[in-house]
Amino acid sequence: MIWKEIYIRYGELTTKGRNRKDFIHRLKNNIKYIFSDIAPLTIRAERDRMHIQLDNERQYEVLMEKLPQVFGIQSFSPVAMCEKDMDSIQQLANQIMEQYKDQEITFKVEVHRSDKSFPLQSHDIQRAVGGFLLAHNPNLTVNVKKPDVELRIEIRKEAAYLMAQVIYGAGGMPVGSNGKSLLMLSGGIDSPVAGYLMMKRGVRFDAIHFFSPPYTSEQSLQKVKDLANELTKFGSSIRLHVIPFTELQVLIKDSVPENMLMTTTRRMMMKVADRVREEIDALGIITGESLGQVASQTLESLTAINEVTNTPVLRPLISFDKLEIIDIAQKIGTYETSIKPYEDCCTIFTPANPKTKPKIEKVTYFESHVDFDEYIERAVKNREVYTLPEKNIKEDKFKDLL
Ligand code: ATP
Ligand code: MG
Repeated sequence: MIWKEIYIRYGELTTKGRNRKDFIHRLKNNIKYIFSDIAPLTIRAERDRMHIQLDNERQYEVLMEKLPQVFGIQSFSPVAMCEKDMDSIQQLANQIMEQYKDQEITFKVEVHRSDKSFPLQSHDIQRAVGGFLLAHNPNLTVNVKKPDVELRIEIRKEAAYLMAQVIYGAGGMPVGSNGKSLLMLSGGIDSPVAGYLMMKRGVRFDAIHFFSPPYTSEQSLQKVKDLANELTKFGSSIRLHVIPFTELQVLIKDSVPENMLMTTTRRMMMKVADRVREEIDALGIITGESLGQVASQTLESLTAINEVTNTPVLRPLISFDKLEIIDIAQKIGTYETSIKPYEDCCTIFTPANPKTKPKIEKVTYFESHVDFDEYIERAVKNREVYTLPEKNIKEDKFKDLL
């Protein structure tokens, strides 16, 4: 294989001043985590770029396939390298361009010479290599304005580096570089997408799911685990807190008028989530709410739900249309799981006519007759916690035994 390393250009993190070191460190660790199945990867992180050494073809293939999903990467290129002499450079350039020998393509050679002791000037190198390639490859023609392939040659102190492709990365910031939150994860389409978008902004999270057996089934819980698992491929393991919600839901149903069930249920979910958030030292709560999508997502409802906490509630989908959300869900691979037909705790107790404009005074009035706190504490205490991907659990357990 001619490629010796993958060269990574950072995303937005290069503008982040003194946090840069931490961002780069995170990106490196995230790459190691995501690609642990092709480990060990040798990664060299520099201030403005990162190099992943390629030891075999499989590493190359897996990296080319999955690096476009890793947040914090602007673009990347496979790189070949050789001795700093014109003969070696021309031979290597020719090997690279031979990959395109079955197509008629246009190209140009771009040279950057940071090693000023190299005897030829950039434009001389450019001309010599370009001429050599044209002489050996009849399928090539030069186009300096809009070439199909730009062959880039960098003459550095240690060696000459050649690359022919720039592949766009996912942008964003490395997961974990912008703190920790708690994602309210239902089995629906929206909340996994909300989690994905926050990961893109560098947020890592635990997930919380409200589970109401026997009204909701084991399959619906499995679906949520599958969704959380899907999200781990973007850069971090995820802890899933499963809250036994039945007792609280039944209590709510018996305590407030039917048209307020939904509002109070949402408020209690938010209270429980906030308690778990506190315990895990997270700073925000993420939801998949989108303005106007359903009765609980009017500004009036959101105000009533928000009233129970001062914690920032991050709603990355607030302005998205359902079709836009579905589009992202399909791209990130959560859609197929989300549309599996298992019931959610909220749909079961959803009244026929929920209030779309709940009045906070009325809601708090009805809630004041009941001591919800005791139930909330019990739900928080009796939660089950899973770490995803599940194979890690086995490895962790095994580790303890050694
Ligand atoms: P989703 O597709 O994410 O389920 P939705 O459009 O069905 O969203 P709702 O059911 O009103 O809307 O839920 C709004 C948000 O509340 C969800 O995006 C999610 O963040 C949270 N949520 C709803 N149900 C649960 C649950 N059972 N466990 C955890 N969070 C939930
Ligand atoms: Mg839902």
